[in-house]
Amino acid sequence: MTMEENVLRVRRQIEEAARRAGRDPAEILLVGASKTMPAESVRRAVRAGVRALGENRVQEMLEKLREGAYDGAELHFIGHLQSNKIRQIVGKVFLIESVDSLEKLREIHRQAEKLGIVQAVLIEVNIGGEASKSGVPPADLDALLEAASPLKSISVEGLMAIPPQAESPGETRQYFEAMRKLFVDISRNPYDNNNIKYLSMGMSGDFMEAIEAGSNLVRVGTAIFGSRYQIHF
Ligand SMILES: *Cc1c(COP(=O)(O)O)cnc(C)c1O
Repeated sequence: MTMEENVLRVRRQIEEAARRAGRDPAEILLVGASKTMPAESVRRAVRAGVRALGENRVQEMLEKLREGAYDGAELHFIGHLQSNKIRQIVGKVFLIESVDSLEKLREIHRQAEKLGIVQAVLIEVNIGGEASKSGVPPADLDALLEAASPLKSISVEGLMAIPPQAESPGETRQYFEAMRKLFVDISRNPYDNNNIKYLSMGMSGDFMEAIEAGSNLVRVGTAIFGSRYQIHF
């Protein structure tokens, strides 16, 4: 399979899942998760019609940015966010998907303010309550959004989650549904800096299920780029 064929197949699957859920496929944003992939592969994905790319590592992303890998596409940061790297990505990415604390929101706000921009972010939720994973506990989400509401240089645009490795599809489904509930709840928030529109969940193995449960942003790596070279980590 070529990458072009992969992109077509993934698109068709997105359409199928959206139709099954009675939703418009055009509402669903496909983000190519391009970690470890060289700039040339990223450019090829963009040419094949992938309009957004997600990166995990700041250094790798900055290198590929310099190489023009994302030209013509939207760039998202989807990896674990370290406070000391925030300065390097604010203003360079369309969306930071993986923010998991008030301290980090404040730092993003501070850096965005310096640049005179508004940085769009998603809040990562630890929906499975796993000690090993980043993300805000669902019970803390409301308080976080309220505390962040005075930060005018950030725009909180939704939620992101990576559910636990499930034993059964039904189990994953339950996490996706729980995320959808949270998403609907926070959509009613009155905060000026909340522009809730993205529910980011679903990867190569489960994006169809995620869409059926309400996701409108899927982060797909392997199903587009093939398997990753571990050596690039
Ligand atoms: C790598 C990655 C993905 C894509 O994973 P695949 O299983 O290869 O599709 C999605 N989201 C995040 C945060 C990732 O790090």
